[in-house]
Amino acid sequence: MKISADLHIHSTLSPCASLEMSPRAIVNRAKELNLDVIAITDHNSIENSFYAASIGKKLGVKVIYGMEAQTAEDVHILCYFGKMKDAEAFCSDIYNYLPSIKNNPEFFGDQIVVDENDNIVRIEEKLLLNSIDLSISGLVERVNSCNGYVVPAHIESDQFGLMINLGFIPEELNNCMFEISYNANREKVLAKYPELNNFNLISNSDAHYIRDIGRVYTIYDVKTPVIEEIYKAGLKGRFEVK
Ligand SMILES: [Zn+2]
Ligand SMILES: [Zn+2]
Repeated sequence: MKISADLHIHSTLSPCASLEMSPRAIVNRAKELNLDVIAITDHNSIENSFYAASIGKKLGVKVIYGMEAQTAEDVHILCYFGKMKDAEAFCSDIYNYLPSIKNNPEFFGDQIVVDENDNIVRIEEKLLLNSIDLSISGLVERVNSCNGYVVPAHIESDQFGLMINLGFIPEELNNCMFEISYNANREKVLAKYPELNNFNLISNSDAHYIRDIGRVYTIYDVKTPVIEEIYKAGLKGRFEVK
């Protein structure tokens, strides 16, 4: 079956995202847009994914547990998990690699964990918008050990993109699909980085505001709407960016 998926959405837990981005508001909007699958991918945290997943179950929108990790090389990598237990283990592991720097909400924005009913659960005090003390290979190793999947985010971007900050594709990312930015021109990206011709390039909205959810999404051909299948479809080229 063909499923439409937007697998890069920020919530109220990302300091840079709008406070309207509660798990409930995001899932409601995804439902309105007929997105079958979404992933909440906050900076270095998965916590709001759990609440979004439980709302998603009620509304019929599949929510994949996600994180946009920022490695020591300042590269953004999307990490996905199918099982809550794996996602929880990974999330608490990564938290230990985040520097103990306090968030300044006035400067960076708030980092709020919000439940299914839009109630504030807690406020995250450590700044999430920071590089963790793990290299790309260290991160990939940990994602794999928690049965997760990695997708380097907005690879062509001047900000936190793999190509600008590392300049090459490391071996541990050789069996990946890559994300290009929602506003990237595929042909231009390939002309600039011809080595990407060997990889499959999907895209997502990277929404920080409700209005941006689904501005770009990808349709995958899968048997069931689970991350294992979506990833497989991505690697095999069974997808279409919309
Ligand atoms: Zn990013
Ligand atoms: Zn992002």
